[in-house]
Amino acid sequence: VPSLNTFAGAHIDRAGHRRTDPEWLRERLADPTSRALVCGTGGVYVDASTDPPRPVLAPLLALSLQEEPVLLGVDDVGALFAVGIDGSAPRLDGAVPMELREAGARMSQRDGGLVAYAAAITNWHRSHPHCARCGAVTKVGEAGHVRDCPNCGAQHHPRTDPVVIMLVHDGDRALLGRQATWPEGRYSALAGFVEPGESLEEAVAREVLEESGIEVGEVLYRSSQPWPFPTSLMLGFHATYAGGEAAVGDAELQDVRWFDRDELLEIAAGGTGFHLPPPLAIARRLIDEWLGA
Ligand SMILES: [Zn+2]
Repeated sequence: VPSLNTFAGAHIDRAGHRRTDPEWLRERLADPTSRALVCGTGGVYVDASTDPPRPVLAPLLALSLQEEPVLLGVDDVGALFAVGIDGSAPRLDGAVPMELREAGARMSQRDGGLVAYAAAITNWHRSHPHCARCGAVTKVGEAGHVRDCPNCGAQHHPRTDPVVIMLVHDGDRALLGRQATWPEGRYSALAGFVEPGESLEEAVAREVLEESGIEVGEVLYRSSQPWPFPTSLMLGFHATYAGGEAAVGDAELQDVRWFDRDELLEIAAGGTGFHLPPPLAIARRLIDEWLGA
């Protein structure tokens, strides 16, 4: 079991205090050592000629920018930015777009973390051009970490949407469900968005009851995973069974059922018609941790 989930571990100095330092920012925007990750709607631009693939760190001065780039932080070389693009590809020699799941599965831990960071914040900018209060077009502020409304003065911060994902277990059996849109035979841990005014423990209990009719007892936090599809944060839990019969409870799931430990070990080894999520998903880690316990 890895120590970090895929898409975590960018290990970059985010240099938050520089976001409000206009002189430093002006210098970095003109600095030939400043580089940018480029994110399109189809994924992040990578140098696919290397194995593992690496994100292209394009000289910022070589990019034609539609708006101010987002400061991701500072590394040994200099300032690192993210640039979101729509439609037409930038002219970057050897750079091709790679879908984020593939990038996360193939890149180093650090590069996977960097592309998740860049994708999540450029996704937010792409989908929030207008003020949520008055509808005016907003402007990038704080080096890309807020959007300011010039009309009503509202300041909008990047969204991160919390999702609880939990493996419910009862002795030697664990509860998994499947959505109709998933690949044939795939089962995974139950999951759902945290609602306003709800603790994480309450969200776990509510989602499991809604989706499966099962009541949970103890809820134990395990680990978390940035999930930039488009701006989620997955919060992983183990939860103990407290009562109820497993039955599909809402339209989200096609099936929900218990799997014995031996059955899951066989599935994890690839020996049956069932499949578990790929290793990059926190759901798989939650299952593997339980199997190894
Ligand atoms: Zn406004």
